[in-house]
Amino acid sequence: MKLKPPINLAWIRFTSCSGCQLMLLNCEDSLAELAQVIAIRDFPIASSTEGKDAEIDIGLVEGSITTPSELERLLAFRRKAQLLVAVGACALTGGINSLIRGERRQAMAKVYPGQGDEWSSFPPQAVDHFVKVDGRIPGCPPEKSELLNSLCALLHGGWPGHQVMPVCMECRINENPCLLERDRAPCLGPITLAGCNARCPNLGVPCEGCRGVVAEGNRDELCRLFLTAGLTDQEIRHRLERFGETV
Ligand code: SF4
Ligand code: SF4
Repeated sequence: MKLKPPINLAWIRFTSCSGCQLMLLNCEDSLAELAQVIAIRDFPIASSTEGKDAEIDIGLVEGSITTPSELERLLAFRRKAQLLVAVGACALTGGINSLIRGERRQAMAKVYPGQGDEWSSFPPQAVDHFVKVDGRIPGCPPEKSELLNSLCALLHGGWPGHQVMPVCMECRINENPCLLERDRAPCLGPITLAGCNARCPNLGVPCEGCRGVVAEGNRDELCRLFLTAGLTDQEIRHRLERFGETV
């Protein structure tokens, strides 16, 4: 669907750190050019303007859904947005917010002592658990180039091609040693969607899977490798839980 400029763009934020918005703001070299074709209706980290009643051509969603009021706002946003794009791990899988899935009760009691079990929030959910999502921009935060390429493609009525290879391939291209093999580190690179140029393993840090699971990722083989590396069943489950229900 080809959109006609000026294109109304709104960014809505739910439970998140705002790092994804910050990444778009960090694209300083391209912002002036973008501003010529885009009319920003809402962008919480940079503007106090709330385009509540404005029509939205492209709606970007950051953050996981954790409360009934967030859910209501998401549903209203979906009704207004022609295209809805989930941005970042929080919106796509629940992200960092969902890593305590198994220990939520204990964590809540520690942060909000003396309140019993009466919380209005629920375990963090990906946006597509509730509404139709037209596009996805992965990462925690996404790469600048991926944000800009995705926006440009949407402005021209298309959608950029998706990566289909795992982070492991980028490690091979960069001639990194394999952290799983060399250090027995619990690296999630074998089943994580590439596109970050193996940002973490380049620095000797195991991949944490922030870009989500790659299509056809061989989860069984990775579990076998993790067992060989000495991880317990519970540790392996914890590592894989970060992909939400997509694995
Ligand atoms: S995906 Fe990462 S950078 Fe984006 S809001 Fe969530 S925690 Fe922050
Ligand atoms: S290496 Fe893994 S954790 Fe690091 S940025 Fe890439 S996908 Fe995310």
